[in-house]
Amino acid sequence: MDRIINKSALWNNVPEVKGENQIVVIKKTHLAFLINLSLQTKPLETCAILIGKRNNNQFNILEVLPMDNDDKSEISFAINEEKLFAVYKKTESINLAVVGVYHTHPSVPMPSKTDTKYMEINPIPWIIHSTTTKKTKCFIHDEIEGIKEIELIVKD
Ligand SMILES: [Zn+2]
Repeated sequence: MDRIINKSALWNNVPEVKGENQIVVIKKTHLAFLINLSLQTKPLETCAILIGKRNNNQFNILEVLPMDNDDKSEISFAINEEKLFAVYKKTESINLAVVGVYHTHPSVPMPSKTDTKYMEINPIPWIIHSTTTKKTKCFIHDEIEGIKEIELIVKD
């Protein structure tokens, strides 16, 4: 069970995700950083905001920003709305965008029921890393297809 802020207005300027193949590109070092962070935060769920640029259906992650899990929970996460709003402001001011959300699961890396609800409100890529199976997967809410897994490309 997870949740994220409910400020759908923040995502209003994001182009629609509709019936096409989206891909997410992350640097090997960034993914390693996130996974390492997860180990440090364990057993609490780890969360981070992913910042970068979007070119149509490609989301390029250029920065990863660890966020406090306000739930302080092993089975859920929440990001403080004001802090998230500040991230959006700052990101826009440097001409980048929030292009994803990262969080961990102590189980399979599949969106929980609560995740799917918030993914619908926040239609950007959601990367989920399992601290048990060590697998990392990426999902997005597509207006036509609903929640679907999308390709996560890890590059050097
Ligand atoms: Zn989750």
